[in-house]
Amino acid sequence: MNYSPNPTREDLAILQSTIEKFCKSHVAPKFQEWEDKGIFPRQLWNELGAAGLLCIDIPEEYGGHGADAEMAMSIPCGITYGNYGSIAVGISVHSDIVSHYILNLGTEEQKKSYLPKMVTGEKIGAIAMTEPGAGSDLQGIKTSAKKHEDGWVINGSKTFITNGQHADFVIAAAKTNKDVKGSAGVSLFIIDTDQKGFVAGRNLEKLGLHSSDTSELFFEDVFVSDSNVIGQVDKGFLSLMTELPRERLALAMNAVAAMEFMMEITKNYVKERMAFGKSISNFQNTRFKLAKLQTELRLNKALINECMDLFLQGKLDASTASMIKYSSTEAQCRMADECLQFFGGYGYMKEYPISKAFADARIQKIYGGTSEIMLELVARDLLGN
Ligand SMILES: Cc1cc2nc3c(=O)[nH]c(=O)nc-3n(C[C@H](O)[C@H](O)[C@H](O)COP(=O)(O)OP(=O)(O)OC[C@H]3O[C@@H](n4cnc5c(N)ncnc54)[C@H](O)[C@@H]3O)c2cc1C
Repeated sequence: MNYSPNPTREDLAILQSTIEKFCKSHVAPKFQEWEDKGIFPRQLWNELGAAGLLCIDIPEEYGGHGADAEMAMSIPCGITYGNYGSIAVGISVHSDIVSHYILNLGTEEQKKSYLPKMVTGEKIGAIAMTEPGAGSDLQGIKTSAKKHEDGWVINGSKTFITNGQHADFVIAAAKTNKDVKGSAGVSLFIIDTDQKGFVAGRNLEKLGLHSSDTSELFFEDVFVSDSNVIGQVDKGFLSLMTELPRERLALAMNAVAAMEFMMEITKNYVKERMAFGKSISNFQNTRFKLAKLQTELRLNKALINECMDLFLQGKLDASTASMIKYSSTEAQCRMADECLQFFGGYGYMKEYPISKAFADARIQKIYGGTSEIMLELVARDLLGN
């Protein structure tokens, strides 16, 4: 069965069947090997590009396919529905986040230089905000960019950066003015990873999403020219704020895709598994719990559809995007826990896909803004303080 992001759109269903075929031929045969190694190969990016599965909503003039955002954002969802979350997260960062920073904030030169190659998978992008001492509180970042005559010298480090090992460039936040407090004085830079002084550190081992590429990064006197600034100098936070609603909507869509996968495999399992002489799907506990989870799934999907409509009209605000990120990722984790329980001891075994879906789910409440930060943003909007 294919993932169905929006049953009213036939084109999305066709795209989902392309994704399913791609996963069958290019991902499934080697996936466990990649999970064991802790990273999927660089070549997969080129294969994704050749299959037309990267950055499809980038306009044709920059090498993209000119698709709409719903279509583009449903690509990682289809991959998550195959239980390949490690691959989906990398694509989401590359296609749904990084390429849109360049499209929306970049100069013509930056767009022409990066976007066409991002579509083909020749250039992989990462976004580097988090530091060892600053995650939720990005105002505390220590990475600095010091002005020189014809450019900037960047020093500092980042951690937990998705696509950090394979990236050809990263968009990194650095403090450009230490004299101002709070969110001011931060700028965004495009840093090519072959630049002298750029060091990709460890590929980090994780609880789930094993084959996703997650790294420490170090900048040791990395020189970038003025043309590598993306957006306005000292206004990096403003840029971040404008791009966050899309990132949060994408994470929410992925959460619901994962929920659909978990519901599908759990429904099948409970019908087959017998206990006390009957199928466990006949116990009232099973029936009511699954019914409640399915209700949550549908509610989150409905709110996502509303958010997508708002997003396509350019009206998705930070607070509403935070609500859907919070609601759907919390629901995903509840579903992961309760569905695993229906599998009993088998649910704890690696060979059962529910155990992987459970482990992969947990990060969803943390990255892209933790649940607590999402609630704080909603509360601020609600209460006005
Ligand atoms: C697999 C993975 C991939 C990632 N990918 C990227 C990436 O590509 N790029 C990137 O820049 N970052 C990435 N991150 C980093 C991620 O966004 C951060 O981990 C996240 O924002 C939380 O920051 P932190 O880990 O420093 O936790 P902290 O900020 O230290 O938070 C610790 C706890 O304190 C709580 N807390 C903090 N402030 C408040 C508050 N004001 N009110 C209430 N509670 C609060 C948090 O909710 C959390 O529960 C990734 C992380 C992981 C694990």
